[in-house]
Amino acid sequence: MIQREILEILACPKCKDRVVVDSSTTWLRCDRCELKFPVRDDFPILLLEEAVPGPNSG
Ligand SMILES: [Zn+2]
Repeated sequence: MIQREILEILACPKCKDRVVVDSSTTWLRCDRCELKFPVRDDFPILLLEEAVPGPNSG
């Protein structure tokens, strides 16, 4: 489970906007870029190389 305090300091590596927890909490989502970032061992991987397109893209 990702703590809210941590989420508040996280930012999308692409647009620097806030990321939000996706429904599963195994992903962080940037609505602006429509990208999702994986969370491994409760550690968010905010790297563009690791990002995958979000459900709204395409
Ligand atoms: Zn973004």
